[in-house]
Amino acid sequence: MVEPWLLDSVAEYNQSSLNNRDGYSAFVLLPIRHLENILKWAFEALPDEILIGFDPEQSKPISQEMNDLLCGSEHQPELFAGQVFLIGEPHLVNRGDSFSVHHVPEEWVDDLFSNDRGSRGARFTHWMHTHPNCVAIPSAADADAAQYTQGVDMILGIEFSPEGPLPWFEDAEGFRRPLKTEIEEKKGWGSWRSRNRKPVLGRAPTGHFIHGLELIAFHRTGVGINVFLVDDDGNPHGLGPDY
Ligand SMILES: [Zn+2]
Repeated sequence: MVEPWLLDSVAEYNQSSLNNRDGYSAFVLLPIRHLENILKWAFEALPDEILIGFDPEQSKPISQEMNDLLCGSEHQPELFAGQVFLIGEPHLVNRGDSFSVHHVPEEWVDDLFSNDRGSRGARFTHWMHTHPNCVAIPSAADADAAQYTQGVDMILGIEFSPEGPLPWFEDAEGFRRPLKTEIEEKKGWGSWRSRNRKPVLGRAPTGHFIHGLELIAFHRTGVGINVFLVDDDGNPHGLGPDY
């Protein structure tokens, strides 16, 4: 059961992905259930960033209907590995700071090709890492690590409180993709106490308040990849039957 607040945010995100599809060369379908698991792991690992590896879900090809709907006018059908399948189960591979998170521990490395495959020289097709209290925009270290990715790289930015050692940081250039743009302020009883607080999107299992989520994907050549958050059958949540 995915939390209702997350489903709300996802619906808005998917609508924005659909509206902007012509700005992307390709798209990926990420199951919402995986996003929810990753969020949980992200909070358990604070203040570290986490690195997640995924393979394509070979038993779940993207339907022709979805392809027709979600492709933009600049679509490139063979841009990256695993492009025609849903993204499979997430694997928590590493944790660390913004540099060390990309240096995969020995047990995840596939020795056969490790020398040609960069600091993350491992077996997964797609990667995601988190930016706790930081915008989802790739750093130079992120762009370097992505050079060996066969699929896509994703970044999940999470704005939360209490902040601990990581106050919200957004001094970075780039195109941002929040999951929810407008959050309704709760009015009335008790609101005087929250006057200086940020609106709350939802609550993490660790008790942290989540104020914002951002999710981007990109190809190693630097082009943006559109993301749709889907149910287990590959249908984007909130787009409805008529789109
Ligand atoms: Zn990063």
